Amino acid sequence: MTQIIQLNLKLSNAFLLLGKKMVLLDTGTSNETSTIIRTFQKAGLNLQDLSLIVHTHAHFDHCGSTADLQQKSGALVAIHKSDAPFFLEGKSVHIEPINLFGKLIIPFMKDGYQTTKIDLLMDDEFDLHPFGIDGKVIATPGHTPGSISILLDSGEIIAGDLIGGGRLMGILQPGRPRYHHWYSDFDLAKKSIARIMEMNPTRIFVGHGGPLEGKDAIRYFNRER
Ligand SMILES: [Zn+2]
Ligand SMILES: [Zn+2]
Repeated sequence: MTQIIQLNLKLSNAFLLLGKKMVLLDTGTSNETSTIIRTFQKAGLNLQDLSLIVHTHAHFDHCGSTADLQQKSGALVAIHKSDAPFFLEGKSVHIEPINLFGKLIIPFMKDGYQTTKIDLLMDDEFDLHPFGIDGKVIATPGHTPGSISILLDSGEIIAGDLIGGGRLMGILQPGRPRYHHWYSDFDLAKKSIARIMEMNPTRIFVGHGGPLEGKDAIRYFNRER
C-alpha cells in the first residue's frame, strides 16, 4: 500500500508518497524547503529517509526547491529526458495559453529556479517498486514534452499539470476536472489525457487544485474530446 500526502505549497501541489520507502513528487517554488520539511516532521518522518525526488515536469513551480532538498536529504533526483535540458539550465519549458486566464497571467510567471544534477533520466516508463512505492511513472506529454504521471497500483493517478483541478489554477471549484491553462502541445495532451482515462483511475491528483474523482474526470474528458 502506498499512501499519498498532498502538500499544498505556494503556487502548486507537491506529493509525498509513503510506501516501504518515501518518494517526493515535485518541490514547489523556491524557498519551500521548510514547509516540506515541516510536513515530514508532522508525519513523524525523517528527511534523510527520502529515497527519490521525481518531477512531473520542468517548471519553476514544480522544481523550485529541488536543489536545496537534494542537498539536505541526499535523495536521488529524477526527471523525464525530454524536460532534462531545461532542468539542467534552471529554466521552465515554454508553454502556450489555451484560454484567457492563461494568457493574462503568463507575463507574471517567473521562469528560473536553482538547478542541480540529475541522477536518473526517465523515459516512457519508470518503475517505482525499487524505491518502495507500489506504482510506476508513465510519460504523459503535452503540458511539456517531458511531462509524466504516476500510476499507483491502487488505481490512483497523479497527473501533474496535464489536467487542471478547477478554475483559476484551482482557486475555484478545485474538485472539478478541467484542462489546465497552458500546454506545449494541446493535441498531444488530449491524447495523454485519453490514455489516462482508459486506465479507469479511482482518483486523480493534479498540480493545481484537485484531487478529482476518477469517474468525474472520465465523464468530463470523454465529453470534451
Ligand atoms: Zn507546469
Ligand atoms: Zn504548475
